[in-house]
Amino acid sequence: MTDYLQHLLSGQSGGEAEGENAFLRWRERGEGIIELTPAGDAADDMLVVSAGIHGNETAPAEILNQILGGLLAGERPLASRLLVIFGNPAALRAGTRFTAYDLNRLFSSGWKTIAPCYESRRASQLELVLQQFFASGTAGARCWHLDLHTAIRGSLYQKFGVLPVNSEPWQENFIDWLNCAGAEALVFHRSPGGTFSHFSCNSLSAQSCTLELGKALPFGKNQLSDFEQTRDALMALICGDCPLPARPVKPAVRFRVAQQITRLSDEFCLHMSDSTLNFTQFPAGTLLAEDGEQQYLVDNAGGERVLFPNPRVAAGLRAGLMLVEEN
Ligand SMILES: [Zn+2]
Repeated sequence: MTDYLQHLLSGQSGGEAEGENAFLRWRERGEGIIELTPAGDAADDMLVVSAGIHGNETAPAEILNQILGGLLAGERPLASRLLVIFGNPAALRAGTRFTAYDLNRLFSSGWKTIAPCYESRRASQLELVLQQFFASGTAGARCWHLDLHTAIRGSLYQKFGVLPVNSEPWQENFIDWLNCAGAEALVFHRSPGGTFSHFSCNSLSAQSCTLELGKALPFGKNQLSDFEQTRDALMALICGDCPLPARPVKPAVRFRVAQQITRLSDEFCLHMSDSTLNFTQFPAGTLLAEDGEQQYLVDNAGGERVLFPNPRVAAGLRAGLMLVEEN
């Protein structure tokens, strides 16, 4: 099997296939979940690469599938223990962000707080698989999780990383890899969230990042050449037989999350247009959104930048993040 994504999209994946070649053995741990182990000397490094947590974000799934295809075909060595995850198979098949509920709001037990649905079951399954995967590693081994996405909107920074709140300082080699993978900006959360990367970092002590690689387009419409640098950086990490892309002259600009805009009710109104780009700056005092009596204003004297503005979310969910640049 060399085109796993096609196999998954056709609905034929039973979730229990396995195989091996000269470089590795692999085993399906569930639908859209493949664990790969290098042959020979046990590798210590543990790596999780996920894509398609949002089913309409196809480019990262295609890139990950290309790399996986080369590994399954025995064309490339495997440098670390690897878990490949296509996050939301049902939504990938439907070409939609999700089927019942946004999967990337349900981790860290968020799935327990909503009525059971496809995504609540999937979040629970993925939490368990990640837990078992990292628990099977050697103590002190490098544990990384890269969750690949594309954004709904255009962006002033095309490629950027969103890092969960972390009580420990970030490892330098992880931040360094993100720079080499083409991240032009890094956004640091200051409070918990229901994302996959928050779960792997805060519950399993991984170095984790939600990596946004460009704009979401349907299967077949992506210019995969736009993603070359990130693909090469992933291959350097996964296969170890190709060089890490050169470190950029200018490191990624760093932002911290200053406030979250939350949709509370049907009265919610976001004062931004559908064409507002991610990282658009708003001056101090700007009225960003209203929800009944609640007003969201730019507090920071130097202004704030918006990330992921989306008024069409369920009540209680994030309708946007406001960022401040860190010096
Ligand atoms: Zn996404």
